[in-house]
Amino acid sequence: MRALTYAEFGGPLTVSDLPVPAAPAGGAVVRVAASGLCRSDWHGWLGHDADIATFPHVPGHEFAGTVTAVGEGVAASWLGRAVTAPFVFACGDCAVCRAGSGQVCPRQRQPGFSEPGSFAEFVVVHAANTNLVALPAGLDPLQAAGLGCRVATAYRAVTARAGVRAGERVVVFGCGGVGLAAVAIATSRGADVVAVDVGAEALQRAARLGAGHLVTFGDDVIEQVIALTDGGADVSIDAFGSAATARAGALCLGRRGRHVQIGLLPPAAGPAPIPMERVIGWELDVLGSHGMDAREYPAMLDEVTSGRLALGDLLDERPPLTLEQAADDLPAVGTATSLGIRLIDPRA
Ligand SMILES: [Zn+2]
Ligand SMILES: [Zn+2]
Repeated sequence: MRALTYAEFGGPLTVSDLPVPAAPAGGAVVRVAASGLCRSDWHGWLGHDADIATFPHVPGHEFAGTVTAVGEGVAASWLGRAVTAPFVFACGDCAVCRAGSGQVCPRQRQPGFSEPGSFAEFVVVHAANTNLVALPAGLDPLQAAGLGCRVATAYRAVTARAGVRAGERVVVFGCGGVGLAAVAIATSRGADVVAVDVGAEALQRAARLGAGHLVTFGDDVIEQVIALTDGGADVSIDAFGSAATARAGALCLGRRGRHVQIGLLPPAAGPAPIPMERVIGWELDVLGSHGMDAREYPAMLDEVTSGRLALGDLLDERPPLTLEQAADDLPAVGTATSLGIRLIDPRA
């Protein structure tokens, strides 16, 4: 099969020929219809993720496709079904998984990080009975490919972690894929959303997904957000992941506000100076959010297919990238202005 690989951190990205994987016990093989290109893939390529330890490495963790093989212990009824899977493959049988929190399973495996990823014609889903998510009829696999990491992560952050309610004021830092998803989901809950980004086009996308106020990130971002939210936001979401946006998120909140960190802050990004005196004095909540358990996917997918959650402007409307084009684009993902979720078609 064709797959995008790199042999060293920060090294050249090449399209290689690899054997089609066999289904391991408990696992399944998925023929990839499309895969999303995410900022985490860029972090991984630069060596910011200690889980990447085998080379050549295949990145990619956000995908949808069709089950082509199942291993021992996995029902043959999955064969031929359209599926997606969380980017955290939970083990399915530790105490954390049994409690419903597979997204933080201590025995998790991650495609594109600890395992070969989805920038390939086929990808393995481990613990398939736990992690395969059947796509509802009427959901295009191309659209579903963008839901496995960024939309799911934003969905859990906005609904389960922040618990956003109608009428609350929510500020979202970073209007790439996950940030735009957070804007759309918060809007669907009836929140008044402030979107912050450095790029005018990203902000326009946020406006089309429901953001009522747009702020260009700069030195006065905290003052601007506080003015727009009548004294401070109820919820801030750092969907970008930097020391500056994490700190600004905490400082934009009003009393008893909730900050949710979604954007990755690997040690290489430096420590994030969260003002703990403010956290105590104003009773702020500082919350992490990391993907979403497969059991929570059907509710999200139902909102997408029913239209309660309108993601129209979230997918980059350009045709999917080929693997060769993805090799050219991945090194710029960390610094380029995002235009929504960009897909890769490994067969194009
Ligand atoms: Zn991702
Ligand atoms: Zn587990």
